[in-house]
Parts: sequence; structure tokens; C-alpha cells
Amino acid sequence: MKQIKRFIDCYIPTETCNLRCHYCYITQKKRFHQQLFHLNRPVEEMKEAFSQEKWGGSCIINLCAGGETLLAEEVVDVASAMIEAGHYVMIVTNGTVSGRFEQISCLPERIRRNLFIKFSFHYLELLRLGWLEKFCENVLKMKQAGISFTIEVTPSDELIPYIEELKAFCIENFGALCHVTIARNDRTEGIDILSKMSLEEYQNTWKGFQSELFEMKCNVLRNFYRGGVFCYAGIGSVYLDLMSGDYKQCYCGQTLGNIYQDSVLAFRAIGKRCSFPYCYNGHAFLCFGDIPAYAAPTYDRMRNRQCADGTEWLTEEMKSVMQQKVIGKDDLLKKREIIQDTVCYGKELMTSKIKQVVRRLIHHETE
Ligand code: SF4
Ligand code: SF4
Repeated sequence: MKQIKRFIDCYIPTETCNLRCHYCYITQKKRFHQQLFHLNRPVEEMKEAFSQEKWGGSCIINLCAGGETLLAEEVVDVASAMIEAGHYVMIVTNGTVSGRFEQISCLPERIRRNLFIKFSFHYLELLRLGWLEKFCENVLKMKQAGISFTIEVTPSDELIPYIEELKAFCIENFGALCHVTIARNDRTEGIDILSKMSLEEYQNTWKGFQSELFEMKCNVLRNFYRGGVFCYAGIGSVYLDLMSGDYKQCYCGQTLGNIYQDSVLAFRAIGKRCSFPYCYNGHAFLCFGDIPAYAAPTYDRMRNRQCADGTEWLTEEMKSVMQQKVIGKDDLLKKREIIQDTVCYGKELMTSKIKQVVRRLIHHETE
């Protein structure tokens, strides 16, 4: 098992989906553009862009689209190329594109063991379409192929009458209860929960699933305030657009460079400059250790389940990989370095503001 250097949250620019979940945060923001991802460069060039020399070692890469990730055929080639380059890959999917799971189950063992599938379980939508059986077959196919996986449900108010039915379904078909995420309302400034209930009522309603993922997400929502703590996103993790190659410190913050154009990649911590109301994907960023001051559980606990028959959703190797933190003692910046960075950032901000004002003045004069 390799030491993990960084977590890369990688955006796949597919912006369409074969489901229509009522709580979908992408439809809320009207971001379905009927666009399917096509790799616009040779796989070899992509492998080169993901070389361990560039990234400083092995990384965990999360592939997630603005729609269904596995609609695009090339995603499997992309994941394989990343694993060939020495990384571990997670794919987020709604679990319904059966042809793709067939393709994945035929990958060589050295690829399959470094792959993790996050099945988003859209129970009501699958029920409506009559696709529950197909979903279960695809989960089973991954398990039989020795691929680590997790199953996660979105706890919407509409699903409440089905809670007991859902629990029984999970035990019967997946050997354990599914994990529970939180439904979020991206249209609100505070990125609130998408529910008529208070957070406390919401927690009480869904706690029966005993999901550490749900507990972690609720804790972050309750207790974590931006600006108060130093975040190492930008060093321990980055947000990458696979198509353009641009990578940023996080969903907010500075663009640090381009993985296809830059021969040496730059990393710089976002520090206390996060502009989000809370770390809504903290179950990944915080669990992988982006904020060492926040005592977060390890990421495997967000994903694994022990089944009644003694098997687990994560393989032993994947579990050990997901137990790691990306920021070790040696990576911590000294007080002096943090002050230097803050001063430097202030200067950069000032320079860019002055340039903006000058540009506006010139533009005004030439009108
Ligand atoms: S499967 Fe995911 S992307 Fe597709 S509609 Fe449901 S929530 Fe949205
Ligand atoms: S606090 Fe969370 S969302 Fe904000 S920059 Fe850090 S990792 Fe990203």
C-alpha cells in the first residue's frame, strides 16, 4: 500500500443524467446542458499529466460529473489510466448504466483493486422506473469483481414513509444498511439542508441508519465555521477540471495552474480564505486531513459497512488507503510561513484590485 499524498476532486464535464431525482442539486441550479464528456486528448498525455513526479506521489482521485458520471464511455479508460499512473480512483455513480459495470468488471485485477465505486442510491427514482433490480445487479457485479464500494442514500422528506422498507431492502440486497448523506439546498446562501424539518428533527429522523457519514455531515453543519481555522486545501487537496486541466485550491480560492500545460505543479494552501458557509464535502476533505485542527474520523468510516455474512464493502487494501491523512506533521506550515503567505496574498489582492481600477479608467476614457 502506498502513502497518499493528496486528494484530487476531479470534475468530469458530463452535464446530463438518465434519472430525474427531485432533490438533485444540479437541476436546482439548472446545470443540465445535455453535454457528454469526451476526452479531448490522447490517454497517454493524460497519464503524463497524472505522473507521480508531478503530484509528489500517489493520490486519491474522485471522479464526479455534473450529471451521471458513467454515461460517458471514456470515464472507464480515464480511471484505468489514472490507476496505471499509480493512483487510487473513486467513481461516483447512480449505478444504472449496466454496460459500464460490465466493462469495469472485465478490467485487470491490478486496476480493479485500486478502484472504489460510490453508488448513490436514488431509491424513489429507481422504484418509479422499475430499475431497483438493475441497480442491485450492478452492486453485486462490483462486489464479485473484488471492487470496493459504498451505497449512499439521499435523505429527502419524500423518502420518510419508506424508511423501514428501505432498511429491509438494504439488508436483503447489500448485506448492511446503506449510508446516509444530507440533502442540500444549493439555492440558499447558507447551503441549508433541503428539508422542512429543523436540523435536530432531521438528525433524529435519519439516525436509525447508524451512518457515520450522516453523523459527520451533520457535525460539520452544526459546528464548523469557515474562517476560524487554517485549511490546507490547495496542498492536501485540489479541485480539478479534467477537460481544461485547470486546478484550484478548492471549490473556491485561487486557480493554481494547469496540469496539461505546467511541467511543475504549484500548491498553495487556502488558509483562512474559504468563502463557503461550511465545508459541505467535509466528509472527504476533513476526513482526509485538510484541517489538522479538526479531529475528523478517517474516510473509510464514511464508506465501509460490515455485512451480516462477515464480508465488508471495502477491501482491506482500500480500507488502509482510506485511513490515511494527507497532511502529516512535516507538512504543517510554521507560524512565520503562514504570516508570510497572508502578507503575500494581501499584496496580490491589492495589485489585482489596482489593475482592475486602471483597466476601468482606461476603458472609460476611450468610450
Ligand atoms: S442521479 Fe444524481 S445527477 Fe442524476 S438526477 Fe439524480 S441526483 Fe441528479
Ligand atoms: S474548508 Fe472545506 S470547502 Fe473550504 S477550502 Fe477547506 S476543504 Fe474547501
